Amino acid sequence: MNIDLHCHSNVSDGVLSPAEVVAKAADNGCTLLALTDHDHTGGLAEARSAAQSSGIHFINGVEISVSWRAQTIHIVGLNFDEQNSALQKLLAHTRQGRLLRLRAIADKLAKKGIDNVFDGALSLTANPEMVGRAHIAQFLLDQGIVRNKETAFRRYLGQGKCAYVQHQWAALADTVHTIIAADGIAVIAHPMRYGLSATAKRHLFTEFKAYGGKAIEVHSGNSDLNDRLNYARLAEQFGFQASAGSDFHRNDSYSGGKLGVCPELPAHCQPVWQNWIDTAAMKH
Ligand code: AMP
Ligand code: MN
Ligand code: MN
Ligand code: MN
Repeated sequence: MNIDLHCHSNVSDGVLSPAEVVAKAADNGCTLLALTDHDHTGGLAEARSAAQSSGIHFINGVEISVSWRAQTIHIVGLNFDEQNSALQKLLAHTRQGRLLRLRAIADKLAKKGIDNVFDGALSLTANPEMVGRAHIAQFLLDQGIVRNKETAFRRYLGQGKCAYVQHQWAALADTVHTIIAADGIAVIAHPMRYGLSATAKRHLFTEFKAYGGKAIEVHSGNSDLNDRLNYARLAEQFGFQASAGSDFHRNDSYSGGKLGVCPELPAHCQPVWQNWIDTAAMKH
């Protein structure tokens, strides 16, 4: 079964419109899809109606930026009521400040002799409010300043690098509580990507669980079998369900895996989508 519960449209830092994301996922054989733009649910209505036309099952999604200790962590919310006002308030609050951050990053890059970053990054967004580091990395790549986006993050944009600007995102407890209050489930996105020590990971998982967090992504993007076995084991230890998503943004190896496609999860995983598939089957 091809399932994808994490991907991006041009409402945040992906390149396809929400309808194009759905069409491409359906082409790739996807049967259950959640669109999870950063801090924004503006693409869900378009994606949902495209999914109806394509005959694939659609789940509401969002990927919320969270500041936890000195780290940025991403929490995916799934299957929530997008009209929930507390959720919309938290998202609106989290979205604030991206333009100011862009200005600050552009100033730091100008000191390194790299000009026009503010206008250049904005020219690559469909939604200026959601301008992010992925747009800046793309601009640096287009200008020939870096060989690939990974290098843009390693050299300039990553945490602690010369053009990094610390940003205050949502709090973990608020985020999880708000997703639950909107009838959704909270999932830790790509836990393999934060560079956390085993101890820090245990602290994050314990805290997340205490707030009511339900699942972790056992597969994300280009995970390998080792990652999936590792995180399946951790999910089991902590009593988390398993989620899976491509984290697709665009077609290049730095921007997620193949849209709409998911490898087999380790056998003992409890998939988050089990109930949704049962419910969808009962409707027919
Ligand atoms: P932001 O929310 O604007 O701070 O940007 C975070 C986004 O940048 C992530 O969602 C990814 O799309 C992208 N990103 C972060 N790290 C990397 C990396 N090392 N290589 C490519 N893209 C990255
Ligand atoms: Mn992104
Ligand atoms: Mn993420
Ligand atoms: Mn993502």
